[in-house]
Amino acid sequence: MIDKIVLLPDSIANQIAAGEVIQRPASAVKELLENAVDAGATEIQMIVADAGKALLQVIDNGSGMSGTDARMCFERHATSKILSIDDLFHIRTMGFRGEALASIAAVAQVELKTRQPGSATGTYIEVENSVVKKQEPVAAQEGTSIAMKNLFFNVPARRNFLKSNAAEMRHILDEFTRVAMAFPHILFSLTANGQQLMHLEPGSLKQRIVQLLGQNYNAKLVTVKEDTDYMNIYGFVGKPDVAKKTRGDQFFFVNNRFIKNAYLNHAVTQAFQELLPKDSFPMYVLFIDLDPEQVDVNVHPTKQEIKFEDEKIVYAFVQAAVKHALAQFSITPTLDFDLDPGIQGLPSIQQPFTNEKRTAASSSALFKGFTQKHQAHIIEPSSRQELKHWKDFFSPSANVDSRQGVHNKEPELENKPTSKELFSITDLSEAQVFQMHNAYLVLYVPNGLRIINQQYASERVIYNRLQASTIDKPYPVQQSMFPVSIELTPGDAVVLVELLPLLQQMGYLIEPFGKNTFVIQGTPADIVGADDKHILDLVIEQYKHFNADLKLSSREKLLRSLARQQAVKPGVKLVDREIRALLAALFSNAYYNTTPGGLPIYKEISVVELAQFFD
Ligand code: ADP
Ligand code: MG
Repeated sequence: MIDKIVLLPDSIANQIAAGEVIQRPASAVKELLENAVDAGATEIQMIVADAGKALLQVIDNGSGMSGTDARMCFERHATSKILSIDDLFHIRTMGFRGEALASIAAVAQVELKTRQPGSATGTYIEVENSVVKKQEPVAAQEGTSIAMKNLFFNVPARRNFLKSNAAEMRHILDEFTRVAMAFPHILFSLTANGQQLMHLEPGSLKQRIVQLLGQNYNAKLVTVKEDTDYMNIYGFVGKPDVAKKTRGDQFFFVNNRFIKNAYLNHAVTQAFQELLPKDSFPMYVLFIDLDPEQVDVNVHPTKQEIKFEDEKIVYAFVQAAVKHALAQFSITPTLDFDLDPGIQGLPSIQQPFTNEKRTAASSSALFKGFTQKHQAHIIEPSSRQELKHWKDFFSPSANVDSRQGVHNKEPELENKPTSKELFSITDLSEAQVFQMHNAYLVLYVPNGLRIINQQYASERVIYNRLQASTIDKPYPVQQSMFPVSIELTPGDAVVLVELLPLLQQMGYLIEPFGKNTFVIQGTPADIVGADDKHILDLVIEQYKHFNADLKLSSREKLLRSLARQQAVKPGVKLVDREIRALLAALFSNAYYNTTPGGLPIYKEISVVELAQFFD
């Protein structure tokens, strides 16, 4: 008999355990920021170098630690936050496992400096590979500073596994955003490679959302708020016209903890119902507070998944609360309302909030149960003032997929020159062709007729033109006479910087201009978009949408995003000359059957089919 079992040395055991908690620099961001929050800090500063691979430092003005605690905190299962198993069900802090610092210390070099308010000196400790290298008293600010250096210096395999700096930085920004969103009353700042990326003054949740996700949400947030004995919900949903093609701006917090939960996400999406174009995701930032006994946060080491005691109630509650918020906001117009009748006829407006539907929604027992306490379900007849808001609910935005017909409502849109000498006319001049519903082109062909989707057709044409551009032969640029500057969120700025060289090939001259700001110096010569600023936002948005598709190269993703963005949308009236030019360009193309993404561009109905049908 040979005995084979050994106990792993501590250092290896620690490294293995650390693998669950610290996967990448961003995991440490979450843990260190949460510790600062738990310590009651009102100001939290984060410093990053080399996307957190070289340095990640968090400085807070919280409660600090005693000398003994400062040494203890790196031990596995060392926590000040729970004492008994019972406490686990009353957790009000972000941390409780006592694993984060132990894990970080197992896979990086850590320097901790901390001082408790009221004590004369602070403590300095250096830990490497789970071993304390140095401990000495120091003069220190009140609070704690923890620096994590050279992550995975002792685990090369995992260091190699890290992604590019741009990718790791994006993860860092995601985690930073989640924590900063949950605590708007705390000042957060973020500096990366010596450049300050964020400085978030304490304020309301709404202010924090705008600071983090962008100014364009400012007038686009609908308040959600319901209080009951069982649970409270508070936060905002974005109006339908700011819905995006990516899941990006969706935040659920349960007892201030960011969570991912497909089931609750479904509840919100359902509440929007027909208000949203298909394939788009509503924006929301929602906080659910309920008795910690009703949730089990102990399911997942990094705690993004949680279990509710009764998930169905939470689902129904969330859905009802969001519905209620939307209903209060967009009241069915009364007769004296002077909105364009064309708009009122749109299905997206008629359907969700017919009287019956609203009554049904607000009279359900569930809904009453949730809202009766504050009588919030009684929806006052609207004043004209409120109806103004109702109107910007549906304000035009190329962001809203106009397949829903939202664009039709804006009569001035049709009178605007449809711009762009998009396509030069060739020989289709003799063909019989007309536009139908401002969305389809009907063309007689020898054996019948072809019904062409104008958006898809122009998407294909633009794609092929852009595709022909290369480094040697960039797309012709039209220099802007009045260059506009755009400010992006730090996350989007990272994406854009990656794309600048490719964009230039495709006719977009964009220059970085300080922190998160860019100047658009020129745009493709013959493609005139609505508004350059907006176009870029949408392109980044689309790009992120395609980003999930790993098979596509950056160039391909960008080509598709630009083509989709610049394409002539449904609802745009084309004059005869434009129709012919578009079709000429399309059919001179080798791939005129499908869009770059593979959707059919036209349907043909042959005379034979017609004959068979009537036979
Ligand atoms: P947990 O947060 O789950 O308790 P951690 O490993 O993150 O475990 O931290 C261990 C302990 O170290 C905490 O319980 C807390 O007492 C102390 N600690 C960590 N970070 C800070 C900080 N920034 N300020 C004060 N105390 C801290
Ligand atoms: Mg912690």
